[in-house]
Amino acid sequence: MQEYGRFLIGGDWVSPRRDRRIDVIHSATEEVMGRIPAGDADDVDAAVRAARQAQPAWAALHPHERRDFLARIHAGLLARSAQIARTISAEVGMPVKLSERIQAGLPAMVLESYIRLLDDYAFSEEIGNSLILKEPRGVVGCITPWNYPLHQIIAKLAPALAAGCTLVVKPSELAPLTAFMLAEIIQEADLPPGVFNLVGGYGPEAGEALVVHPEVRMISFTGSTRAGRRISELAAATVKRVTLEMGGKSPSLILDDADLAKAVKATVSSCFLNSGQTCSALTRMLVPKALYTDAARLAVEVAETFTPGDPLTPDTRLGPLVSAAQRERVRGYIRRGLDEGAELLRGGIDAPRGLERGFYVQPTVFGRVTPRMTIAREEIFGPVLCILPYEDEEQAIAIANDTDYGLAAAVWSADAERARRVARRIEAGQVDVNGGRFNPLAPFGGFKQSGIGREFGRFGLEEFFEIKSLQF
Ligand code: NAD
Repeated sequence: MQEYGRFLIGGDWVSPRRDRRIDVIHSATEEVMGRIPAGDADDVDAAVRAARQAQPAWAALHPHERRDFLARIHAGLLARSAQIARTISAEVGMPVKLSERIQAGLPAMVLESYIRLLDDYAFSEEIGNSLILKEPRGVVGCITPWNYPLHQIIAKLAPALAAGCTLVVKPSELAPLTAFMLAEIIQEADLPPGVFNLVGGYGPEAGEALVVHPEVRMISFTGSTRAGRRISELAAATVKRVTLEMGGKSPSLILDDADLAKAVKATVSSCFLNSGQTCSALTRMLVPKALYTDAARLAVEVAETFTPGDPLTPDTRLGPLVSAAQRERVRGYIRRGLDEGAELLRGGIDAPRGLERGFYVQPTVFGRVTPRMTIAREEIFGPVLCILPYEDEEQAIAIANDTDYGLAAAVWSADAERARRVARRIEAGQVDVNGGRFNPLAPFGGFKQSGIGREFGRFGLEEFFEIKSLQF
């Protein structure tokens, strides 16, 4: 049982104004595995004031001094990576071997990329007779989701601190424990008091209090499109900058000359990563009509290798979902797929055999999905793949872009030029060509209703600046 009773505000562990707790539920046992306090508007106000007070001195440090603080946080993350991985596996359901690499490894990798960036990043430049200054925005409110809970905090914290901003973080109430571990690491790293503040709580209460607070200059949000829309509306009253990283319904476009087995395997693996609880998951597999039967057979074969099981057992490939509500939501979509006439090739609504306890869903593959079906349009956030057959390249591109989202995509072809040409026509923030590897320096973010703004690398850093020009 991991229990936290206080928030980190102004460098001290502070009791919440009201004594209310949130239980954290283990995704595989359904038991209470942790507890955090639920903050309200008063707690948020105290945290924002602390961040406001700390901001000028933090911004006045030389970038290399800020870099050295980030390096200490990085060392703290590495020292606790095994505990971070196990905690998130239990909270969210990701198999622990993957958690070590992704849930614990990715935050360290992103933080390191900003440490390097600060070595020689130019905080000013000259354009004609002007000097352009990149100044920190001020206090930033970070509101984060549960699916990659520590990574999503670090993807905001690292560039915000690098830019000279101070922070109030409001983590997801469903998977908040590593945010509290991070606060401990930050205290051990001796960050100046108030530079990083942590308040737990529910979105409509603590989250909204942060969004409407007049001293908060920017909200950096990752989560659902529903909450992002609400945050944009509320932030408009104080004309805050808002960056939003939201959902997706990302296509994997397999062209007729592609290495089919390789493309299908990579697509199914992306779709089922973290039990499908990944914003950039490739959930729509677009295949030429002539290759549909082969593609469907291959997809089922790959899906079969994703045996559900305890996320804390080293050889498990597919864990449970984060919560009972999420499991019911995903089952609802599977039911909807059946009702709307998609062909169930594998999986289904029932719990996987022997796994009635825990928030498990069978790895599910739907064939002959059409673009108007609900399962082809809405983000399911579970291990459910949709296979959509297409006639020709033009139609494939049209189907790929026929979505309110635009976060990620993949294109597969034996002809590199053709793949590149098609990739340029996809309306999404990142397109992986023939299995291109993740790059922590490349900008990440969405077109359309997947978001506003970018994270990672230089583009991620620049979201946290106010630009000022001096003319001479
Ligand atoms: P969510 O929107 O329910 O919650 C995200 C965060 O917002 C939580 O901290 C929550 O407490 C807070 N929140 C909720 N309502 C709020 C409100 N009215 N005001 C202020 N804060 C509020 O999302 P979730 O269920 O935690 O996460 C899943 C979603 O996140 C999926 O849609 C997924 O696609 C998306 N996501 C996007 C990215 C990305 O980078 N694009 C990454 C991961 C997850």
